[in-house]
Amino acid sequence: MLTIKDLHVNIDEKEILKGLNLEVKAGEVHAIMGLNGAGKSTLASTIAGRGDYTVTKGTIEFMGKDLLELEPHERVGEGLFLGFQYPVEIPGVSNLNFLRTALNSVRKYRGEEDVSAADFMKLVREKAAALKMNPDMLKRFVNVGFSGGEKKRNEMVQMAILDPKLALLDETDSGLDIDALKTVAEGINAQRRDDTAVVLITHYQRLLNYVQPDVVHVMLDGKIVKSGGKELAAELEEKGYAEVA
Ligand code: ADP
Ligand code: MG
Ligand code: MG
Repeated sequence: MLTIKDLHVNIDEKEILKGLNLEVKAGEVHAIMGLNGAGKSTLASTIAGRGDYTVTKGTIEFMGKDLLELEPHERVGEGLFLGFQYPVEIPGVSNLNFLRTALNSVRKYRGEEDVSAADFMKLVREKAAALKMNPDMLKRFVNVGFSGGEKKRNEMVQMAILDPKLALLDETDSGLDIDALKTVAEGINAQRRDDTAVVLITHYQRLLNYVQPDVVHVMLDGKIVKSGGKELAAELEEKGYAEVA
């Protein structure tokens, strides 16, 4: 589903990613762990297609296509979803309008008709209920005045509605209390299927107590330096990055 080969990325003139390789197959959940500054968010931003990140070498293939040739909205249309550490607030735009616009733009990219108002409301209510979101929050402006946990819950509802092939979640677990963490984990686990994949970028082991990864990677200085099963996360927690990587 996602194949990254020898990826080198610069921000300004500085090389941040220094030959990163990663292969994610359908049906898998991967965790990428690493200390602050390892380049995890740079990887997420590069996959999202943020303009200030320059790929100087290497390839990214997603769903059989050259990802780097696609515009950010085309990447979303192909089935990519990115969850950010700090979800943005959008004053003046209701959550419902935002979700409907996002869903219809993905449908348009796939050559599908707009979703009907009735079908949309049914879908949103179902997904919000599954993630225990208070329906009143759907009418509020996107993330405005939401607590940290509510923003993450909202992000899980967005993900469930867009139903991506690949979800890449950057420190979606940071700063959450245990209830919010469990909600995020439920959202991720609900998205886990034979035809989807999830990449969790995380600092800590604790989300991995609720979402069992198939593969764990350790990232250090712009590269993946070690990969293993879920026991690698526990080993990192116990011994620290210096000893393991
Ligand atoms: P992580 O997410 O693993 O903490 P980042 O990808 O955020 O790591 O950062 C990796 C490195 O890139 C750090 O040394 C950071 O200072 C640098 N960096 C990140 N963003 C920028 C930027 N916009 N301009 C310059 N340097 C940056
Ligand atoms: Mg960081
Ligand atoms: Mg980061």
